[in-house]
Amino acid sequence: MAALSLGMPAIRRSPSAAPSIEGRPDVAGLVDRFGRVARDLRVSITSACSLRCTYCMPAEGLPVIPRDELLSADEIARLVGIAVRDLGVHEVRFTGGEPLTRPDLVEIIALSAAAAPGTPLALTTNGIGLDRKAQALADAGLSRVNVSLDTLDREHFTRLTRRDRLPRVLDGIAAAHRAGLGPLKVNAVAMRETLHDAPALLAWAIDHGCRLRFIEQMPLDADEQWKRDNMVDADELLEVLGERFVLEPVGRDDPSAPAEEWLVDGGPATVGIIASVTRSFCAACDRTRLTAEGSVRSCLFGDDETDLRGMLRGGADDATIADRWRAAMWGKQAGHGIDAADFVRPVRSMGGIGG
Ligand code: SAM
Ligand code: SF4
Repeated sequence: MAALSLGMPAIRRSPSAAPSIEGRPDVAGLVDRFGRVARDLRVSITSACSLRCTYCMPAEGLPVIPRDELLSADEIARLVGIAVRDLGVHEVRFTGGEPLTRPDLVEIIALSAAAAPGTPLALTTNGIGLDRKAQALADAGLSRVNVSLDTLDREHFTRLTRRDRLPRVLDGIAAAHRAGLGPLKVNAVAMRETLHDAPALLAWAIDHGCRLRFIEQMPLDADEQWKRDNMVDADELLEVLGERFVLEPVGRDDPSAPAEEWLVDGGPATVGIIASVTRSFCAACDRTRLTAEGSVRSCLFGDDETDLRGMLRGGADDATIADRWRAAMWGKQAGHGIDAADFVRPVRSMGGIGG
């Protein structure tokens, strides 16, 4: 196994030796040893970002990935095509880092839409720069966006993201609405510093036609400050929201949906909570991931990565690449194991994997 250096400890990467597939049934889809089937593809396209959220990036940002190590727009589209056509993927989401920092994002969407006609293409973004690109992205074939926004308090936003850019995010959300990139979801990481901003954020989201989902903070911050006994969990968040709203649980939209939904003040508005830590949904996980350098990563918390970029550039055909992807998925781990005594944080932080 070769080591991939990101200015951090080594990531286990399998460039040539195919992972073992002993016992794998002969099916086309991305099945694993625990009976799960991956149908949701997350594609990270960069680790660069316009913000430095404390729960994700270090203050100085992640080391820059040299341009020739990033997948090109054509390479991304080819892998999206293989995933959808040969491996049963139903939905593709582009993420990062901040995907809007890639100057060829519109091209990536257009080529991916052509490679996988009819497949929903979504984007997770911090919204900065979306005001200028939303319409072009929609025209290129993007179906919807999720914008990350943790607080409407400008000072709190600046402290949490280490950048004074709240108005740019709000401009981006308005532009996404105008371009019809909905239903627009807003993702907020539940943090102690912004916990008491949560009710105002929910009221704003309802007023602005956004579906708000809070996410429990996972131990994926580059600064390694996350502590299990200090994180805001779903129960504490519900208590704070409950001071202003009447919340009624309505369950999940579907079993593999990560967010549990609550009806707000009798509805029709809802709020979602993704309790990734305290109510792990690993048993129903249906994700497969590609890193910006073109490796399959089956789990946020698993450092094993399988290189596809080398195969793409070495002339491998689609069927061979699809087989390698299937083998990678067969080795997916059971769960994140955050509560296990022997839990070890992954080497990459969230911005380096793609959330
Ligand atoms: N830059 C884009 C953004 O912020 O939406 C896309 C990449 S970001 C890594 C994707 C999602 O991961 C965001 O919604 C972000 O809030 C979330 N995220 C980042 N670090 C996290 C952490 N430690 N725990 C939980 N969610 C996290
Ligand atoms: Fe950037 Fe998104 Fe990470 Fe914030 S969460 S630092 S916006 S990649």
